[in-house]
Amino acid sequence: MSAVIEGFGGEIVGPDDPGYDAASRTVLAGGTPAYVIRPASVEDVQAAVRYATASGLPLAVRGGGHSFAAFGTNDGGLVIDLAGLAGIEVIDKDKHVVRVGGGATWGQVATALQPHNLAISSGDTKSVGVAGLTLTGGMGWKVRKYGLALDQLVAVQVVTAAGAVVRAAADENAELFWAIRGGGGNFGIVTAFEFAAHPTTDIFFGKILFPATEIADVLPAWADYMRTAPAGLTGIASFANPFLGGPQAPLQIELAYDGDDAELAAQAIDPIRALGTVLADDVTLTPYAEVLVDGAIPPPGIQLVTRSAFVDKDSVPEALRILAETGTSQGSPIIAIRSVGGAVAEIADDATAYAYRQAELMFALTVIGPPPVIAATRPAGQELWDRLTPHTNGAYANFLSDAEDADVAAVYPAKTYERLAAVKREYDPENVFASNHNVRPA
Ligand SMILES: Cc1cc2nc3c(=O)[nH]c(=O)nc-3n(C[C@H](O)[C@H](O)[C@H](O)COP(=O)(O)OP(=O)(O)OC[C@H]3O[C@@H](n4cnc5c(N)ncnc54)[C@H](O)[C@@H]3O)c2cc1C
Repeated sequence: MSAVIEGFGGEIVGPDDPGYDAASRTVLAGGTPAYVIRPASVEDVQAAVRYATASGLPLAVRGGGHSFAAFGTNDGGLVIDLAGLAGIEVIDKDKHVVRVGGGATWGQVATALQPHNLAISSGDTKSVGVAGLTLTGGMGWKVRKYGLALDQLVAVQVVTAAGAVVRAAADENAELFWAIRGGGGNFGIVTAFEFAAHPTTDIFFGKILFPATEIADVLPAWADYMRTAPAGLTGIASFANPFLGGPQAPLQIELAYDGDDAELAAQAIDPIRALGTVLADDVTLTPYAEVLVDGAIPPPGIQLVTRSAFVDKDSVPEALRILAETGTSQGSPIIAIRSVGGAVAEIADDATAYAYRQAELMFALTVIGPPPVIAATRPAGQELWDRLTPHTNGAYANFLSDAEDADVAAVYPAKTYERLAAVKREYDPENVFASNHNVRPA
């Protein structure tokens, strides 16, 4: 089979090859692609893209394979799996610029940067791909201090639909650089990212738990506090987790304080401890690379459906009231609320294609189960969504299982979409890269 793709030196896995089943799956979804293509070099990516274009087969591009919408596999098409392009190198020691391969995971990045006392604000899970997370946002443990993962990008190397290798940066193909920071995989395959990393050693990290009965009070008080909390403090409030007791599950505020000064950390975190009855508190000084967790992988046949939205300041009380009420009643989805704001909101709205910089919170509702269970929860889920909609904005593409036109419109408001569609026309006029929240060429 390899001989079929001219100039290709990587691996090609077809249905008759050993390892096909594993190669077809992403972390969250099964698939039956015609071939999984694993490039070993940028030239291989070029050859693979040219082959995909010539064959006319649907194309999925896979970084870390964590897309909730199963964008990293398909049925009957081609999958280009970038796991072989995972090199990580500090290329400018003074400016802390790090070059990361398009198929690397955040765990690999954190481990590689630890000896350099550097880190990039990313996400919370080791196995999540650098590419997927960065291309539409990237909310990690330093998000309020340094912004989204995409805000730390200084350049990207992209293989376009024509098979050309293009560099994009603030002063080079600037419109592509704008689009790629929020526009997902719509414009080509990113074979390398250059990030400005941040000096990091240990950070204060852990969970503070409050009883479920206090959610209605603690949750809004936490959101109020986060509005003016030191930018080094970031948190995720989650509850109604069936694995922790469903509606009786405690409210978990997972937090990170970016720094190793115990006094400053206590000043930042103590106001959270004072919000209610602390059931448990394991916040300790932890090496940044150890803060990232191994994501739980659902067994085959178990689906994970997630939907997300942003909340602006004025809507915080009502949105949180509905979420608190839902979380403490039977049949609630898992609710996770991330504090954003801080550095994210300080960057100009039109600096990148990420559209919801002014939001204070982003929340995701997740249902886990076999397809019939998921189907049975849909009506109640929609009813809840209809109640929340007047108090929310848009959607965060990284926590969004559906990819209908309405979902795409939620991710990209009209003005952003229009500008993205013009860039799409230039770099992917035939919409070869369509396995994403798809922007159609203008
Ligand atoms: C367990 C878990 C934890 C998570 N934690 C966080 C978190 O803390 N913060 C956060 O912001 N998000 C988080 N996410 C969401 C995550 O950011 C998205 O699922 C993201 O899409 C995953 O990227 P990936 O590369 O692993 O996925 P993939 O499925 O491989 O790719 C996702 C999308 O990116 C495209 N793509 C992948 N690689 C490339 C490339 N090299 N060039 C161009 N396009 C490419 C794909 O075609 C697809 O459209 C989490 C998800 C999971 C499942």
